[in-house]
Amino acid sequence: MGNNWSPIVEKAIYEGKLGPRDIEELFRADLWELGSAAEYLTRRYFGNVVTFIPNMILNYTNVCVIACRFCAFYRPPGHPEAYTLSVEEAVRRVVAIDREFGIRQVLVQGGINPELGIEYYEELFKALKARLPHVAIHGLSPIEIDYLARKHRMSYSEVLDSLGTPVWTRWLVVAVRY
Ligand code: SF4
Repeated sequence: MGNNWSPIVEKAIYEGKLGPRDIEELFRADLWELGSAAEYLTRRYFGNVVTFIPNMILNYTNVCVIACRFCAFYRPPGHPEAYTLSVEEAVRRVVAIDREFGIRQVLVQGGINPELGIEYYEELFKALKARLPHVAIHGLSPIEIDYLARKHRMSYSEVLDSLGTPVWTRWLVVAVRY
């Protein structure tokens, strides 16, 4: 093999099936090692073929109450530069970008805006799917899912169900939670 991967990275590569504790351990793995393992797997499965997805980022709101210190994007509620797109405006922007560039994915990501309930996201996702069935929705981030679960006293699964999210994304949320 010629690689000095740690046992947990070797397990991820060669055994495939990981439990919650394994995933927790992987979060502590060295970043360079993970990069090296990722490159190994990419070459094993795809050789030198490189692909990409034309994607746009839909920042539907910059209002956020989390206030991460590194973040230059967010504005607190009531700030003069704070904005929240209506569902109609959000969809209009995605349609316009798709018309010009032909996208295949939209990354839906914004701040934690206390004014937005799950109805906003349900409406947005449904409208995007109805207008752009060929465009995959990549969203939301784990913190947005967590916010909706707390706000509506729902489980993560219930939030994801109501958003019509594919099953594989649930594992991602569970992994981040651990
Ligand atoms: S949660 Fe996201 S949008 Fe909010 S402050 Fe942190 S990084 Fe910025």
